[in-house]
Amino acid sequence: MMAAALIFAMLLLVWAGVLLAFAVPLAARWREPVLRQPVLIVESDDWGAGPLAQADALRRLAASLQRVRDRSGRPAVMTLGVVLDVPDGARIAAAGCTEYHALTLADARFDAVRAAMMDGIEAGVFAPQLHGQCHYWPPALLAAAQADADVRAWLTAVEPAATEDLPAHLQSRWVDASALPSRALAAAAIGQAAAAEAAGYRAVFGNAPQVAVATTFVWNDTVEAAWAQAGIEAVITPGRRATCRNARGQPDCVDATMLTGEQAPAGPTYLVRDVYFEPALGQPPQRLLEGLLARTRQGRACLVETHRFNFLQAPDASLAALETGLTAALAACPGLRFLSPLELARAVRERDPAWIESRLRPRVAAWRARLDEIPRFRRAAQLSGLALPLAWLERTA
Ligand SMILES: [Zn+2]
Repeated sequence: MMAAALIFAMLLLVWAGVLLAFAVPLAARWREPVLRQPVLIVESDDWGAGPLAQADALRRLAASLQRVRDRSGRPAVMTLGVVLDVPDGARIAAAGCTEYHALTLADARFDAVRAAMMDGIEAGVFAPQLHGQCHYWPPALLAAAQADADVRAWLTAVEPAATEDLPAHLQSRWVDASALPSRALAAAAIGQAAAAEAAGYRAVFGNAPQVAVATTFVWNDTVEAAWAQAGIEAVITPGRRATCRNARGQPDCVDATMLTGEQAPAGPTYLVRDVYFEPALGQPPQRLLEGLLARTRQGRACLVETHRFNFLQAPDASLAALETGLTAALAACPGLRFLSPLELARAVRERDPAWIESRLRPRVAAWRARLDEIPRFRRAAQLSGLALPLAWLERTA
């Protein structure tokens, strides 16, 4: 009897040790708000200045999104991560690739693209957000063009360019990746560029940007501070912040991880986008559904990333796949709601009782469902036997 009590006491001690070792991520996931209903947001980057075929793609997308409505009657919402300019190839060529000249989204040749965006915004199916003045850091591109004929050709092309065709490391706006590993930009240059892009956004959309998403998810504290200064309330993240491109050109130098609802030091609210659905790469609609079900178990919104290239390279198949995925999501979760990222950020920040759960049992269940993502915690819980009481907690919650 004594021995059994002793073993049990030791087991409790081991469990306490495991919980203590993971106290910080466990507590963060307890503090993270739990949503009362499934929420789905389609997040699509790279729209704006660029190929003129976007106008048709955007109109077809808007029509498709309007056919899918949640139980409140609201159509599906897709964010447009907007890029405000592409190179003016003729002028850059005339300057021998020594000066950058932009073709902006405000230019008359993009009238049809802008009109398609505005009509979708008006209809409530598009929510624009700032992706960047351009999908690169212009001085880095000019420097790279000196040694790289492909970059030079891209920069001087006559037709509005598709930024997807650039080497991946050069698509990062907030570092100088003309040589690898990348170098950080001067704070003053970042401040100026962020103010200019906010002004450019306002010129097109009539209001300052409120949500920002860094190109290729490479950014830093200085960028966030400049965005906050420009009026940004919410920053879309993949749950971690890479601040450089390493010697192999990959995003690296991760200096922060974040959960939805956490606040950036400069003030904006972080949101997490971590479900990926790129139909043109062969990913089936099932992916969207699985992502939604998993995020719903965790009490989280499902932010689904699907880039512009899907709807330009394989428009018919991608549109059909998106609509199938959305329809399947509604069928599987009849309580599903569509929201914009700004509405989500505000609901989370203000702990809006219409959206945020306060009852203990659903909060415990969502917390338990979040724990497996903590590196090494799952294994520690299994080895120590802590997984048993946690499973019990999940069942009874
Ligand atoms: Zn992008």
